[in-house]
Amino acid sequence: MFVFFLYGRRWARIKKATNHDHACSNCNEFNIGINIYRQYFHFLFLPIIPLGCKDTKMFCKTCGERKYIPELQQQYEKKSRTPFYLYGGPLLFLAMCIAAPITINITHNKNTRLLSNPAVGDVYTIRQNESTATTYYFLRVCEIKGDSVYVYHNKLAYNGVVSKLNPEDYFTKEEELSFTRQDLKEMLDKGEINDIDRDYDSYTGFNLVQ
Ligand SMILES: [Zn+2]
Repeated sequence: MFVFFLYGRRWARIKKATNHDHACSNCNEFNIGINIYRQYFHFLFLPIIPLGCKDTKMFCKTCGERKYIPELQQQYEKKSRTPFYLYGGPLLFLAMCIAAPITINITHNKNTRLLSNPAVGDVYTIRQNESTATTYYFLRVCEIKGDSVYVYHNKLAYNGVVSKLNPEDYFTKEEELSFTRQDLKEMLDKGEINDIDRDYDSYTGFNLVQ
């Protein structure tokens, strides 16, 4: 089955050394090559986590004969640390734990900044939690008068977060609503305003008003 190739166990050489303290029983040269390996679990060939113990292969670098010298094995396995890159899984998880709050924070700061200084054309993505489902719709700022922000409602509701309107969707002048700046701030804090767009491209359809 193909899936066996997508994840599984592989070996990595984590240390390569030469020892000159032991004579080869075959050629009498003091030239023992030592390779230390560590098994790891991979997913799509990316190391996730090391597995089991280390494995050592020894050979005479002069005549090529395989060797097994327990004393050297112990000595070199002790000296060879498992490299960080074999811990790809935990490292990736850690990176995500650090990056996710930063991304959320940057988005929140951007939205707070745009909301405190509203402009005609700003589009608010509104999240509406209902008992059975969460739907999304859009409000587009059409006028700002003192403390009031006037918006147009779009025609359709969406089942998930979308970054552009459906081709048949648009903002309608028939449905004009007004909010105070404080209302909007509370909506943002409660997560009802899910995102704010300004300087969007025309493919988003956010500039379609009828
Ligand atoms: Zn030899």
